[in-house]
Amino acid sequence: MSKAFCAHPRLEPVLKQFQQIPLLGAHALLISGAPFIGKTTLARELARMMLCANSGEDHCRCQSCRSFTAGLHPDYIQIQNSSITVDEIRQLKQALGLSTLSATGRCVVILKAHTMTTEASNALLKSIEEPVSQTRYILTTDNLHRVLPTIRSRVNHIYLPPVPPSIIGRWMTDVLHYPHDPLRVTQSMGRPGLLQRLMDSGSIQRQALEAIDQIEALQQLEPDIALEYLRQWQNDRQARIFESGDVRAADVRWLQKIEQMIAAIQRHQSFNSILSYARSA
Ligand SMILES: [Zn+2]
Repeated sequence: MSKAFCAHPRLEPVLKQFQQIPLLGAHALLISGAPFIGKTTLARELARMMLCANSGEDHCRCQSCRSFTAGLHPDYIQIQNSSITVDEIRQLKQALGLSTLSATGRCVVILKAHTMTTEASNALLKSIEEPVSQTRYILTTDNLHRVLPTIRSRVNHIYLPPVPPSIIGRWMTDVLHYPHDPLRVTQSMGRPGLLQRLMDSGSIQRQALEAIDQIEALQQLEPDIALEYLRQWQNDRQARIFESGDVRAADVRWLQKIEQMIAAIQRHQSFNSILSYARSA
């Protein structure tokens, strides 16, 4: 479960409820709320739980959860587009007809469901009303009123409201380990994903340069420790970038640079040349 997840007080109760009554009794669920509030995080976590072989327990390592986390689950389909056309919904239905069905069924997540054309919405409506066996749908939207009323009336709806400043402020310090910053808390408008984005912006580069300073000190002692430190650094940052679902080119470049430093240390390349490469733009 991602850190962004824990910040929203509505998410934990939804998950608990879901564990007891799968999909809250319906084939389809619609999650609405402002951008960066946690809709995609909730949708993906619910999908993982639906497909899990162990009733969706936390930190599960079953085959299904591992392939879900790796983005390779054969029974998980995610649709996201700036405009979702009827052809995409038809392709989806075709794929559902073809894919192999495991015991836990299939799950379709449609992000930004309000971007479906009317034709696409109507095509999806039929699938929701008469689902292919064991196919569940989770839709998200930050514009509830643009979702067709016929769809709204046939799904269970969860609204994620803004998180109160006191809760988001505590999350910032206790979970993300940032110093308390009232300005950023205000700017986040109660949206955990937005706060994380504000705090992370440009920070990979800063953190990478700090890591490089750190290994310069470590290297004088022990190359193995420097290597271990860089590997740990890389794993942590990679996990955070993938958790946030916000992969930026500049961040990837820094991750690659650290990767190249690890390789250079392993080749026993001169440490001064590694450092001057690392600090180059
Ligand atoms: Zn599992």
